[in-house]
Amino acid sequence: MRQASQALTKQRLNGLLGALDARERELRELALIEAARARAAEGGYGLCADCGEPIPFDRLQANPTALRCAACQGRREKLHAVAS
Ligand SMILES: [Zn+2]
Repeated sequence: MRQASQALTKQRLNGLLGALDARERELRELALIEAARARAAEGGYGLCADCGEPIPFDRLQANPTALRCAACQGRREKLHAVAS
């Protein structure tokens, strides 16, 4: 019989799943950083992916991996928002 101290209780499982979620977020963040570096290498860094206008420096400073200007990002988020 398994000892209670070694059992993968629901609580422990949830803790591990939470840790996996955190790692997944980190990896997604890393992918964004890689993409930003690639844009920098290609000369497209700091230009909005949708409208092609320069992304304001303030926005890049706050979010260096920003792919779009605030207006385009807002439009996109509205478009993809899940209706609840
Ligand atoms: Zn834009």
